[in-house]
Amino acid sequence: MNPSEFVISRDGEELVLPAALPLLPLRDVVVFPYMVTPLLVGRSASVAAVEAAMERDKYLCVISQLEAEVDEPEAKDLFSVGTVIKVLQIIRTPDETLKILVEGVSRVHVHDVVTTDSYQEVDVSPLLEETTAGPEMEALSRSIKERFKEYVRLNKRLPDEVLLSVLNLDEIGRMADSISAYILGKVPLKQELLEEPSLNRRLTRINQILASELDILEIEQRIDTEVQSQVQRNQREFYLNEQMRAIRKELGYTGDDDSEIEDYATRIEASAMTAEALEVARRELARLERMSPMSPEATVVRNYLDTLLVLPWKKKSRDRIDTAKVREHLDADHYGLEKVKERILEFLAVYKLTRKLQGSILCLVGPPGVGKTSLGRSIADSMNRKFVRISLGGVRDEAEIRGHRRTYIGSKPGRVIDSLRKAGTRNPVFLLDEIDKMGSDFRGDPASALLEVLDPEQNATFSDHYLEVEFDLSNVMFITTANSLHTIPPALEDRMEIIRIPGYLEHEKLIIAERFLAPRQMQRNGVSDWTGGFKRSAFQAIIDGYTREAGVRNLEREIAGICRKVAKHRAEKDVFPGAVTGRAVQKYLGIPKFRRQVVDRDPEVGVVVGLAWTMAGGEILEIEVASVPGGSGKITITGNLKDVMKESAEAALSYARGLCSEMSGKWFKENQIHIHIPEGAIPKDGPSAGIAMATAIVSLLRGVPVRPDVAMTGEVTLRGKVLPIGGLPEKAVAALRAGSEHLIIPRDNEKDYRELAPVIRRQLTVHLVDTMDQVLDLALVKKAKPRRAARGRTTAAPRARQ
Ligand code: ADP
Repeated sequence: MNPSEFVISRDGEELVLPAALPLLPLRDVVVFPYMVTPLLVGRSASVAAVEAAMERDKYLCVISQLEAEVDEPEAKDLFSVGTVIKVLQIIRTPDETLKILVEGVSRVHVHDVVTTDSYQEVDVSPLLEETTAGPEMEALSRSIKERFKEYVRLNKRLPDEVLLSVLNLDEIGRMADSISAYILGKVPLKQELLEEPSLNRRLTRINQILASELDILEIEQRIDTEVQSQVQRNQREFYLNEQMRAIRKELGYTGDDDSEIEDYATRIEASAMTAEALEVARRELARLERMSPMSPEATVVRNYLDTLLVLPWKKKSRDRIDTAKVREHLDADHYGLEKVKERILEFLAVYKLTRKLQGSILCLVGPPGVGKTSLGRSIADSMNRKFVRISLGGVRDEAEIRGHRRTYIGSKPGRVIDSLRKAGTRNPVFLLDEIDKMGSDFRGDPASALLEVLDPEQNATFSDHYLEVEFDLSNVMFITTANSLHTIPPALEDRMEIIRIPGYLEHEKLIIAERFLAPRQMQRNGVSDWTGGFKRSAFQAIIDGYTREAGVRNLEREIAGICRKVAKHRAEKDVFPGAVTGRAVQKYLGIPKFRRQVVDRDPEVGVVVGLAWTMAGGEILEIEVASVPGGSGKITITGNLKDVMKESAEAALSYARGLCSEMSGKWFKENQIHIHIPEGAIPKDGPSAGIAMATAIVSLLRGVPVRPDVAMTGEVTLRGKVLPIGGLPEKAVAALRAGSEHLIIPRDNEKDYRELAPVIRRQLTVHLVDTMDQVLDLALVKKAKPRRAARGRTTAAPRARQ
């Protein structure tokens, strides 16, 4: 064989290659046998080498430079193993560089580098490969194939087709070289693979490199997905936030959520909450921060925080208790009520000295419209305190007092806390209206919740279900009102100082109307410059014909009605009408609704003035008894009476029959007794008309008339004993209003009598009785002219029968 040539085996054929070849030094590339790759040739020596090869057999030897930066490499700058390549294609560019497509043919040892005129030549000899086929090689090759598959899958820079071209290669050496070419790596690593003569060792090395490359790729991939998902998450959040902002804007919310949280935080820290409340507020705010701002829970939390923030934790109004000033204030707003005002002043004087409200709760008891609410307001005003009114009428649910738990959107604090919020100070005057109308049922007992509110031992730590934190109510001044004491739970009644306001007498009403109600209503209705105004007779007409009440509420309403009509008249005709007189009232208010309840008649048989107590105050009842022939001695009772009153009528009849034993049983068999109590529209109940009915029956049976100027109230037993009754103050007022001069009451009511207003005691002669005999003695007209008892004194009725 020509020493200038050598032979290699390629694809099963022998190939003769020249031993001296033009040199193409490479930067950053190692070319493996069978590898087809484009090369850019720019250096003039290299271009000349390629041109020389093209003139011969197109073979060149490529050798990688140790250092890529060297421009004119010598032998020492080159590796000692290179690759014979064949130029497959050549493209010449105008700037003298060449683009060539080459194919690796064989690895060779490089022995000598010889420089010719324009390029270098090298002497080469084949690098003999050691191949020891066997199971180890097979195992290695399989493992490499698997790893390479994975490598291509993970490596985005290698297209999938690479796999096909590599894995289909049967010859292991060729496969190893192809894979070596595709592995991304630095020149020294690739050169190492090129130089390794043992296929076995080369495979092992490739396997190692693939394994470590896979590790790196996997880590890369993980980092990549993490980065990607982070980016996705950020993008998602950004997108959602943007959407939310758009929605909030659409709904008219301004500012964003961060500023809301910050705003709450600043307000909470600046507020005067108790330490307990502060802690809860901070906790709730932290919760709010984690919530979606549009969620229902967030609304609940926001409402809660708002409530905490507006409550007057520390804010107080400064008390001003100057009894003379308070007196002035009370007088300016209310006529009369001397006793009530005195009691209020005493109460405040004690408070001023002790500075304690504890244990003293005023309870104003009386019919509607007697000024209970407006007294409460006056007390607050004169003490320089805020005033709030809580109506307890119809409250059955404990939650109304104590609030609902904070579980649903609509939940809110109870009335006590809510009223404090309205008052804006922690020491207002609370008027608890109509505590007698409070009910209780399965929803809990509001009275017991109220007891806690009123109890000085407990109310410093009052807890509302909604609020959850304690609120100090001990600075609140409580005033309660009621129409009657009957239905107030005893535990509650014990706590209170009762002040009764029974109702006004006619002359008082006239003064109240003239001095207070009319000026106020004229002003409210914009007719304060109406010079005509009301004449006193107009008030009298309104009281008689349009109201029947112990207070002055309806009186005020009717006056307001007239003022409105006056305003209308003025608007239409541009002038005010003249003064309203008693006669003119009908023109404004229409036909009178009531007949005046005045007993102004001659003595009659079977007609007695009884008295009743209603929620609206006292009433007189003109009880009429008549006998009707026929029937079986039974009684007929008409006039809308309830059971207790009917039973009381039966008892009265039995007593009367016993008393009038001179009447034969035959009479009772042939006659029927009819008891009628007029004003059937008003339901009547209670036993207190007992003595009046008994008197009427006796009067009928004996044919003796009853004095019309005597009013009476009392329960009767079958044996004629007189038992005590309730509601005396209101009844006394009613009797006086109706023109009675004498009032017969049970002796057991003496205490109530002593408490009556002096004006009533002065005008009514009150008789305390124990038995029916005394009643009859006082009420039945005597044959001889009865001697009048001196006015203004109590007379004990004679005990003996006449
Ligand atoms: P209550 O709370 O007892 O039902 P209000 O306080 O509402 O009664 O009184 C009804 C109206 O009558 C109010 O306008 C009140 O100012 C007036 N009023 C009641 N009593 C008097 C009084 N003695 N002097 C002046 N006005 C009175």
